[in-house]
Amino acid sequence: MKNTFEEVERKLVNASSVVITSHQSPDGDAVGSSLALYHYLLKKGIKVAVILPDKFPPFLKWMGGTEQIKTFDEDPASCNHLIDQADVLFILDYNDPKRVGEDMGRSITNSSAYKVMIDHHLNPTDMANWMMSDTNSCSTAQLIYEFVCGLRDEEKMDSQIGEGIYTGLVTDSGSFRFPSVDARTHEIAAALIRKGLNHSRIHESLFDVNSLNRLKLLGYSLSEKLKVLPNIPVAVIYLSKKELDELDNQKGSTEGLVNYALSVEGIQMAAFIKEDVNKVKLSFRSKGDVAVNEFSAKHFSGGGHKNAAGGVSFDSFDETIKKFENVIYEFWK
Ligand code: 5GP
Repeated sequence: MKNTFEEVERKLVNASSVVITSHQSPDGDAVGSSLALYHYLLKKGIKVAVILPDKFPPFLKWMGGTEQIKTFDEDPASCNHLIDQADVLFILDYNDPKRVGEDMGRSITNSSAYKVMIDHHLNPTDMANWMMSDTNSCSTAQLIYEFVCGLRDEEKMDSQIGEGIYTGLVTDSGSFRFPSVDARTHEIAAALIRKGLNHSRIHESLFDVNSLNRLKLLGYSLSEKLKVLPNIPVAVIYLSKKELDELDNQKGSTEGLVNYALSVEGIQMAAFIKEDVNKVKLSFRSKGDVAVNEFSAKHFSGGGHKNAAGGVSFDSFDETIKKFENVIYEFWK
């Protein structure tokens, strides 16, 4: 931790405007942490806005406050203005300006706001004045809870703030099953339920509402595209843009697909490679000591956690697959 809670409290109390930001392709932890902090700061009487680099997936739309989220790539002028005017700027669930895209990253880097980073990824860059960076935490959402406690505001916690925190806990911990989940994660969930959180409704909203197209995409991916690479414990799913366009090419429609590949018996690492506009996105998952963040950083300009990481390639889809299938055999030597 860099600097004290007293200092950040003072900055917040004196701020005329606060901006919360999170990373590109925002997931449940990015959106959940942002909205939890948003509702908490509103409750403290602080003027606050949430800016995400690009659109959040529709499966998170049910969350309270999503209609207030501003999207940088849809309206860069007004987002730049907000960032420019901010006295305090939150950097949630990322630790490098590269994770918000070039233009928004520049805007954040140039901003003279007091920057507060709350994150659980490895190797934070030196971009913040105040930092809560804990790589042992299962989610940034867990750290948002700790942040509120650090400001001695635990009694302000309510079911609306809790909804964002619980969503982040659930989505980044594989529904409380990854090794990063600890007793504190469950204590926080219990405390939120005591505050009136409807945990069952959140699980239902997150996991039991699928469009027919999304289920067809899942069916196609599992029956036609899932394969195990010969001689190594690695399962893969590759989807081209054409396949996605024909089935369901919406934000979030491929969320969780890579976990099916990892669940194949005997498999220790899974890769999901997806062709996007002008780039190819890669997702990696692993079990035990297989460090996919190191693999991703070395070969695909990526990063993340030991057992869940991502990366990007600007080669063609076919070339990316070829490269992956070369380097993965090196990795398993
Ligand atoms: P996912 O596979 O769900 O997109 O990402 C898994 C983890 O890897 C997340 O913690 C995410 O922040 C991180 N990650 C995903 N893509 C990238 C990337 O391109 N660069 C870096 N540094 N991290 C990534």
